[in-house]
Order: sequence, then structure tokens, then C-alpha cells
Amino acid sequence: MHVHTCFSSDSTAPVEDQIRKAISLGMKHIAITDHQDYDYPAWHSIYLLSDTGDTEGYLNGLRAVREKYAEQIEVLFGIELGLQVHLGEMLNKYVAKYPFDFVIGSTHCYDGRDTEDPALYADRSEEEACRAYFQTELDNIAATDAYDVVGHIDFVLRDLPSKNRYFTYAKYAELLDEILLTVIRKGKGIECNTKTLYRGMGQPGPDTSVLRRYRELGGEIITFGSDAHRPDWIGGSFEVASKIVRDCGFRYYCIYKERSPVFLPLES
Ligand SMILES: [Zn+2]
Ligand SMILES: [Zn+2]
Repeated sequence: MHVHTCFSSDSTAPVEDQIRKAISLGMKHIAITDHQDYDYPAWHSIYLLSDTGDTEGYLNGLRAVREKYAEQIEVLFGIELGLQVHLGEMLNKYVAKYPFDFVIGSTHCYDGRDTEDPALYADRSEEEACRAYFQTELDNIAATDAYDVVGHIDFVLRDLPSKNRYFTYAKYAELLDEILLTVIRKGKGIECNTKTLYRGMGQPGPDTSVLRRYRELGGEIITFGSDAHRPDWIGGSFEVASKIVRDCGFRYYCIYKERSPVFLPLES
């Protein structure tokens, strides 16, 4: 439920290559979720349908592959939206305009900078950086309804100088609880993003402790996403992630069709 293709400016993977790889792994559904980050800080411009704004062209491309592969796999129309507080209303209108099956709401920047920008980590501790990120994410998800699940809740950890080495749920419990409760209150979900697993950080995004806390607080909607920008990353670490999610108490995972969750059993 989280796959990029050459429609994203940070991927060169042809859509059909991503789909064929998923078919070869025996998958029954795949959501293509290319980036749409409006009003992005200029530091680098990796995120993008918004260079062209051609959502129609994107969806037409997906429509063609949906038909072509209909017998083998269900192709779901997704998008990964970059959330920012001032875009809240505009994003509501944007998602209402198109027939998306699934919308991921992601926070890719804070303090007006991309999380990869070293300037964010020059003059403050990693703990302060995490706090600033989580506060921004909380404000973002409260400011709009233009998403179904929140993408990689602890995305900031990917770019900290020491990555997730010193992360603990307890350090940020108050902010993380507020994020998870906002998600639940709004009838949204979160994703278990496996990129950090197959790229060697030892934990999915978010961390297992946050997935467990989400379940404790009553969270039920969870999707799996490899965040694959190339075919060999499709479905990366899904078996490990599935076990983690089951161990956190989940019995079902979700896919989305026409913006509604479909619950499927998590098999052991
Ligand atoms: Zn993302
Ligand atoms: Zn992504």
C-alpha cells in the first residue's frame, strides 16, 4: 500500500515493473502511491507530481495498467500527500476531486525544511529535532482530513545523525499519544512502513513500541507499505513486519478501496 514509480521525481521505476514484481511475489493488491508535495521547501525537489501538477495524467497511466493486469492483481489508485498546516483546506479539495482509492498523509518537512536538510540538526539535540518533527506532524494531521493513513509516523528518525539508535517511545510519549489519538478519533489509520527494516535500521516505521501503543489506545487500522522506489524493494521485510504487527496484538491489516478500509486477516 505504499509504492513509488517514475511518476515520483525520486524514482525511475516504470509502473509496470513495480506491478510485475508484486505479481511475482503472489500479491493480490498493490496501491501505487506517488508523491504529491505541494509548496515544498526548495532545498531539494525530490517530491513531486507537483512539478507538473498532472494528477489526471498520473491516474490515466494507472487506469491503463489496472486494466492490463486486472486478471493478476488489483491496482489501487493511491497518492502520498505531503501534509503542511497551511495546505489543510486545499488538500481536502484536492483529494475530493479525484477517484483515489487510498491517500497516505506524510510529513516530510518541518521548520520549513526537508527532513534531510543538515541545517535542521546543526544547532539542536536529536531529541529537540524529534520533538519539533512530532509537533509538526500532529499539527498537520489535525489540520486536514485529506488522508486515510499517516505515513511513516517517525520519519524523522531516518535522517537523524544517529538514526533511531536512541529512540524510545517513552521520551515522546505525550506527543506520540496525541498523534495516535488524533488518528483514531478521526477514523484514520497508520501504516507499518518496512523501508527502515529492509534498509537496516532494525525497526519498521513507526517503531514496534509505537505500533503496540497504537493498538493499546484502540487503533485498528493498519496498512503495510514497503515504500519501494524500485522493484527489488517491493514487499521488502513484509514477513518480519507481519510478525511484529501480530505480536503487537493486531489480528487484521487493511487495504483501501475508494477511500474505505477493507480488513483482511493477518495469517501466521
Ligand atoms: Zn514518505
Ligand atoms: Zn513514500
